[in-house]
Amino acid sequence: KNFEELGLRPELLKGVYAMGYNKPSKIQEAALPIIIQSPNNLIAQSQSGTGKTAAFTLGMLNCVDPSINAPQAICISPTKELALQTFEVISKIGQFSNIKPLLYISEIEVPKNVTNQVIIGTPGKILENVIKKQLSVKFLKMVVLDEADFIVRMKNVPNQIAMINRLLPHNVKVCLFSATFSMGVEELIKKIVQDPHTSIR
Ligand code: AMP
Repeated sequence: KNFEELGLRPELLKGVYAMGYNKPSKIQEAALPIIIQSPNNLIAQSQSGTGKTAAFTLGMLNCVDPSINAPQAICISPTKELALQTFEVISKIGQFSNIKPLLYISEIEVPKNVTNQVIIGTPGKILENVIKKQLSVKFLKMVVLDEADFIVRMKNVPNQIAMINRLLPHNVKVCLFSATFSMGVEELIKKIVQDPHTSIR
């Protein structure tokens, strides 16, 4: 398959080619049609280096309605370094889209009323501000959980994720990415990824 066949909007295709990508990687070819066209939640096994970041950032950008100025897709990254890397990828790949992502980590002062449609952040910061209602989840369509195997090994973080999950509207699409599927990851999936879901392993 090529990128044109994956259902991406033209401005995102432009972004993909600006990145220098010619053909989708395996994970992009498998995950993007599910993220874009299927109502199912997704769990995907993918290591770093497989192109997973572009897969889910394109999925997030594609699900956004640019006419609504409120958060519609959130990516939860285990660390601020990973959040920053993901933010850089989504900024570049979405450069022709009019969608301005927001990096949501404690070092950065975030606006009182977030109008960015796409949020990339760490679990603690996101939970804190969803609870404070500084980060509205009213228009949220999609949540990505990146490096779930890393997340489940961090103290308190699986609980924070489960708490975030309980605060989300129903029918938010959950997309979980993990390099491995340990017992901890399977437990997290049971808690936050409702059936029916599609699994790419
Ligand atoms: P990741 O797995 O997200 O850490 O990405 C690994 C590397 O692959 C990054 O340097 C990306 O820029 C690159 N990459 C992602 N998708 C593609 C693609 N379709 N074609 C070529 N390189 C890609």
